[in-house]
Amino acid sequence: MLYFSSRGKTDPVSAAQAITMGIAADGGLFVPEILPRLNEEDWLQLQKSNYQQRAAHILRPFLPEFTQDELNKCVNAAYHSKRFDDPQIAPLVKLHDQVFIQELWHGPTCAFKDMALQMLPHLLTLSMAKTEEAGDIVILVATSGDTGKAALEGFKDVDRTRIIVFYPDEGVSEVQKRQMVTQEGSNVFVAAVAGNFDDAQSGVKRIFGNPSFNNHLADHGLKLSSANSINWGRLVPQIVYYVSAYVDLLGQGVVEAGQPVNFVVPTGNFGNILGAYYAGMMGVPINRLICASNANNVLTDFIRTGIYDRNRRFEKTLSPSMDILISSNLERLLFEITGHDAGKVSVWMEQLKNQGRYEIDPETKNKVQSIFWADYCNDDQTLMTIRAVWEEWRYLLDTHTAVAVQVYQNYQKETADSTPTAIMSTASPFKFGSSVAQALFSPELIQGKDEFTLLNMLSTATGIQIPKGIEGLENREIRHKTRTKAEDMEQTVLDFLQL
Ligand SMILES: *Cc1c(COP(=O)(O)O)cnc(C)c1O
Repeated sequence: MLYFSSRGKTDPVSAAQAITMGIAADGGLFVPEILPRLNEEDWLQLQKSNYQQRAAHILRPFLPEFTQDELNKCVNAAYHSKRFDDPQIAPLVKLHDQVFIQELWHGPTCAFKDMALQMLPHLLTLSMAKTEEAGDIVILVATSGDTGKAALEGFKDVDRTRIIVFYPDEGVSEVQKRQMVTQEGSNVFVAAVAGNFDDAQSGVKRIFGNPSFNNHLADHGLKLSSANSINWGRLVPQIVYYVSAYVDLLGQGVVEAGQPVNFVVPTGNFGNILGAYYAGMMGVPINRLICASNANNVLTDFIRTGIYDRNRRFEKTLSPSMDILISSNLERLLFEITGHDAGKVSVWMEQLKNQGRYEIDPETKNKVQSIFWADYCNDDQTLMTIRAVWEEWRYLLDTHTAVAVQVYQNYQKETADSTPTAIMSTASPFKFGSSVAQALFSPELIQGKDEFTLLNMLSTATGIQIPKGIEGLENREIRHKTRTKAEDMEQTVLDFLQL
């Protein structure tokens, strides 16, 4: 299995090279040359397997340089009972009738990013060994919340890596901030950046693009790398839980072999839902992939009109991990859907870069619409959905998952489709506890209360335990107090690395 660039201007590389490099030299994303089809024997095997075994089985053909033994070690370390608080790792819970919720937040940071970021460090260090990468890796992350903490947890104390996370001092929730500034580990560094996410993000991009800075690091045997979702090593673990969901639906007798299902995915960067698309290409029978957005509804418009247009106001919403106007992984979908037409993809991506907009051809648009359905919802609807689902089914949603549930209800209203459906739940409700409290409690009850008090109130009112990754956070030792200005981020990196 080789990996191509989605822009087609570089030679194919091995899986280990794709993971070590992160992004192709022509600016494209690495894409697999083929998607292996699951045969009858695979399905039988998967039904007898636990999550770890399913993961090893599905990853195998994508990572041919890794031995079965290496892969087993990776999945067992990543999806270990010390790190995930549910033995099923990604349990599928029935909401009602033919509608299920797949909980992707049982990892250490209580958001779905753990599904991939617990795995990436193992894949990356093995890949570095295979490509004979000489230096150590410095993972540099700008985060709007979930990615930073998940990357810190994934990379902490991993040999030959350091991890530096910059978060905006305006813009992350109190829980998210506490999760990061209390991070343990001998190779982890965290700094607040004065400003918003864009300031932190631009600073990180500037550092990546600064040749003399990178040369200076290279002189000390260090190389920058990224943990964001354009890395193939972050994407490939996200195929696993869609296959696993289908296997569970088979096991529970909800579907028979070959019977299609819908997946509903709260979407930002298009990484999660792309895992569903790839699972479909591997043979999971899919009726519709339902792409749910918040007020940043650039993907809703794209799927409905074929026009991707980021020239619009950036909205801050109650589902902040989906506040995104450039969904990078869409590039991989376009590559597949055009039948690997790197020329077309390059033109569209150039237009996106230069004009912030591109329009796909009618044939490609029809293909997109034959698989995807899209809608969005606003913050009021999000809160109402949390409340309604709690009252009707006693299931507590976080704000991101609530967007997905609302959009699925819109879908059902419009199509009357009764295909069995799995909705991806991307965060524990306690991770966005103050918004969830706002949905359930009266304004008088929550007024003036801090986030940690609200978490306890939520837990008492619902009888649901606060997850380990969040419980007692307010009492943990604060280990990271560095604050920096966006223009001083280079110096902060050098200080952290003692260069
Ligand atoms: C990152 C994230 C998303 C968006 O996932 P993408 O892969 O970027 O589409 C949705 N919900 C939560 C809670 C997240 O952390």
